[in-house]
Amino acid sequence: MFLALPSWAQAATSLQFLGAARTVGGSACLLETGKSKILIDFGLFMSTEDRLRNNLLPFDPSSIDYVLLTHAHSDHGGRIPLLYKNGFRGKVVGIGATKALTRLIMGASLDYPDREAGALFGSQDVAAMMNNFMSLSYDRKVDLLPDVAVRFRNAGHILGSAMIEIWCKDGDQTIKIVFTGDMGNTSIPLLKVPFDVRDGDYVIVEATYGATQRIRNETPQFGKEIRNTLQTGGSVLIPAFTLDRTQKVLFMLGRLKREGIIPEQTPVYADSGMARRITRIYARYAGHFHPEARKLTDGGQDLFRFPGFHDVSGVEALRAHDQGMPAIYVTSSGMLDHGNAPQHLEKMIEEPQNLLAIVGWQAPGSLGSRLLAGERRVRIPVRREGKGGVGADSVEKDVKMRIMQFDLFSNHADACQMLNWLAGFGKTKQVFVVHGDKENTINMARIIDRNLGFKAVAPELNDRIILSADLQYRNLKAGAIPCAGLGGSENMKGTMDF
Ligand SMILES: [Zn+2]
Repeated sequence: MFLALPSWAQAATSLQFLGAARTVGGSACLLETGKSKILIDFGLFMSTEDRLRNNLLPFDPSSIDYVLLTHAHSDHGGRIPLLYKNGFRGKVVGIGATKALTRLIMGASLDYPDREAGALFGSQDVAAMMNNFMSLSYDRKVDLLPDVAVRFRNAGHILGSAMIEIWCKDGDQTIKIVFTGDMGNTSIPLLKVPFDVRDGDYVIVEATYGATQRIRNETPQFGKEIRNTLQTGGSVLIPAFTLDRTQKVLFMLGRLKREGIIPEQTPVYADSGMARRITRIYARYAGHFHPEARKLTDGGQDLFRFPGFHDVSGVEALRAHDQGMPAIYVTSSGMLDHGNAPQHLEKMIEEPQNLLAIVGWQAPGSLGSRLLAGERRVRIPVRREGKGGVGADSVEKDVKMRIMQFDLFSNHADACQMLNWLAGFGKTKQVFVVHGDKENTINMARIIDRNLGFKAVAPELNDRIILSADLQYRNLKAGAIPCAGLGGSENMKGTMDF
């Protein structure tokens, strides 16, 4: 529904939250100046109750000048082809690695007709998006329109992920808006850490984890648990999302081998065709790597291949179980519901010496979440090859293998890291908290206000906020030291007021 706004509001600079408002999915923000209209992300709503929103376009797509894309996850860019289907003819702007990943992921999602995206738009709309994709480099300020300039900064979330700084003219003044997009955590030294932006009038931050401290340095424990499992003759199953999680797991396994924590000869089977293609893209962008990873690539090391590494798929990977040798299997899906992971689980679940290492978020109701909740008998969806081809089937099994969860692979900043990053600003006019559920976004806004002294709110879906260069700044609270260390700190409770 279009509301008639008073003429002063039509000419004003405004920001409208069209998704990821008090929810995680459907990231989308509409920035309007008196002359230009820009979307920041246009992603898929993921949850069952929000999915019906995917077809809604509460604006005329042909009136949009640009779409700025923070990164390749489909909850941020998955609906962009729908804009082209409905008359958008402008460009999508993102980092080059985001373009490469988006092309791969968008093409693949069309291969699955049951996916939501397949029904929303066709391959010609994806092609239109890719043909109009304008690649940017990090850290270069670009004048996009007469009244709008942008600069992409590394967000350290997945390869190519960016925070976006936007300057827009508001009369004879300038307003600077900063979007964090999804901000990475700093526990795995594969990608560069998030860039320290130091100034902005309005800041839009993510709150996937809300006001919780999540990330601890579990690297030693992760290595120890894998080593112990292998030493007792057990094998390890690591279900991992194909984008970013698989690459970080392989990077860490290579590092544990180099450090002698797990034996060099232990076979590691990477069983996912999609993950393999994504890993190849990661390997092409060493310039985006963390200095520690960069040192290795500069020395000729392949970060994702190491002694004992086997890049095999399907039947061949499953056959490895018959060799009776302790091994590590890295495979999708990350929640064990589809892909090749269930086939491996079927072979491993009844052996108490085996370890299931959960390294990603598990949606409520997924097989992974039920295993984590301690269910003792589960139904596993498996594929069977018969005369008529591959068919779906399921088997019921007792759960005897050990199950552990490791948070260190999470690729979102926790509250501590986000507050430290925001404290670098010194002053802001207003902070908006998005990309988290209702409780997390409201709590995060509250702790930003309380600890930093910045005005912070959790906007609701479709809220439109008028931005003004004349609005008073709020200065950083004197003596604010929100967290003692990045990425979570044991001292946090003493210094941060929840
Ligand atoms: Zn993301």
